[in-house]
Amino acid sequence: MLITAKDLSKAYGSGENSIIALNKANLEITQADFISIMGPSGSGKSTLLHLISGLDTPTSGAVTFDGVNIYETGDRELAAFRRRKIGFIFQQFNLLPVLTAKENIIMPLLLDKRQPDEAYLKHITDLLGITHRLSHLPGELSGGQQQRVAIARALIAKPDIIFADEPTGNLDSKSGGEVMALLSSIWKELGKALVVITHDSRIAQMADRRFVIVDGALSEVQAG
Ligand code: ADP
Ligand code: ADP
Repeated sequence: MLITAKDLSKAYGSGENSIIALNKANLEITQADFISIMGPSGSGKSTLLHLISGLDTPTSGAVTFDGVNIYETGDRELAAFRRRKIGFIFQQFNLLPVLTAKENIIMPLLLDKRQPDEAYLKHITDLLGITHRLSHLPGELSGGQQQRVAIARALIAKPDIIFADEPTGNLDSKSGGEVMALLSSIWKELGKALVVITHDSRIAQMADRRFVIVDGALSEVQAG
């Protein structure tokens, strides 16, 4: 199992003002999974994503990655684990505006004092159709192209899993559809687990395992 979340809970605040953002969530993710997690705003999607990717600590419960409890490792190990094992894609792209597309893509490696594998870089930018845009600044690219640069950045460190938080939330439906089609083909070709957080049922339906979250309660939608 790549990732296991066991009885994962998160409460914010204390006393009367305390809210349970996530209530005993259980989730198992294998290397072969394409998972969607759908829920309305405020249902706990970001909280779940932050907990299973080691960005925040749970109130109770455990998360294991390759069998290691990520909250029992030190901060440095946890940071290294995030850089090497997980690729993140955000709604707002989060590209640095003063860096070219290529510089944005390789930044995670440079921060980890590693050099890019140029052949792999070309392979993924070809897959994403952005090889001819690598010397452009983000401001010179369309939203869909910026998100494709962000996908290349998420892939550059050869992670085991990609977490995409509302990856089409800032795109029109045509570019959003293209970005989802690319994520889906990357999942097939590169064999990386893919977890997409969305409030859009059309996007959720592209996944082969679907979960819904309502008021912090996570459940899997049975196929068929
Ligand atoms: P979603 O991503 O589905 O919109 P979130 O996980 O962001 O939902 O939030 C779930 C609930 O937890 C919401 O009620 C939200 O207001 C609350 N919440 C999230 N983060 C915090 C925080 N840092 N402090 C207090 N409440 C929070
Ligand atoms: P998303 O659009 O991904 O659901 P949100 O807008 O819900 O994200 O939350 C953005 C950030 O603000 C998150 O990191 C979340 O932890 C934090 N947050 C959300 N709700 C609250 C809240 N009520 N109080 C404090 N922080 C919050």
